[in-house]
Amino acid sequence: MNVAIVTVGDELLAGDTENTNASWLGRQLAERGATVERVLTVPDDPAVIADAVGRYSDAFDAVIVTGGLGRTPDDVTIESVARAFGRDLVESDLARADIDRTLEGIEEEYPDLDVDAEAEAEIPVGARALINHAGLSPGCVVENVYVLPGIPSEMKRMFEEIGGEFGGDAGSRLLYTEEPEANLIERLDAVRERFDVSVGCYPDREAGHNRLKLSGSDEEALTEAETWLAERVALLKE
Ligand code: ATP
Repeated sequence: MNVAIVTVGDELLAGDTENTNASWLGRQLAERGATVERVLTVPDDPAVIADAVGRYSDAFDAVIVTGGLGRTPDDVTIESVARAFGRDLVESDLARADIDRTLEGIEEEYPDLDVDAEAEAEIPVGARALINHAGLSPGCVVENVYVLPGIPSEMKRMFEEIGGEFGGDAGSRLLYTEEPEANLIERLDAVRERFDVSVGCYPDREAGHNRLKLSGSDEEALTEAETWLAERVALLKE
């Protein structure tokens, strides 16, 4: 299963907020055997968001969008996703009931809170609402596009609900060595040629070692490649 991640927010592009959602989702998806093929960050611009979502929805098995989910003026993700699929917005009963419940629960703490619950509960026609157990604004699923909140705690909680819908046969093996990267080139080329795997070499200057990552969708090939390298590279024990 190949997946694209689209993170929405001017603050991400400006570097004001670190894009931890993308890396967290990347790890979650890899653990489930899915392959992340693109990570794209876009501004809070409906035309740009709609264009990216439309293209990625066609090109990948699934798309996960995070950010801009609220119904404040700078939050345009829901309407942009609706636009990508040529759909109107409609109030979701499920989302509305949850929003009303949440607002009731925080009424005493925030007596002056002014929320347009109907607008908050709107999702594209035909979409599946995703309840926000850790916040207010609901997410949704439209065809193969999953729209999640930007706030990391809310995003992670909502991903728990849909995580089971992502999977695949992508696997990997990590190996560590102190041999210099330049000296490894021939052996890394050879392992790539011999086995149906890809290989990456990631120097960690602080730790003083190189991390070798074998990736592929054939478990047997991964094991054979790992054994082949272990016999030829001075590996560190984990
Ligand atoms: P709200 O419901 O509060 O409007 P939202 O889903 O609309 O939330 P944003 O308004 O886009 O999300 O962002 C809310 C906060 O979440 C931002 O201030 C930022 O700190 C954080 N955030 C957004 N996107 C990311 C991301 N990709 N990685 C890490 N943090 C993020």
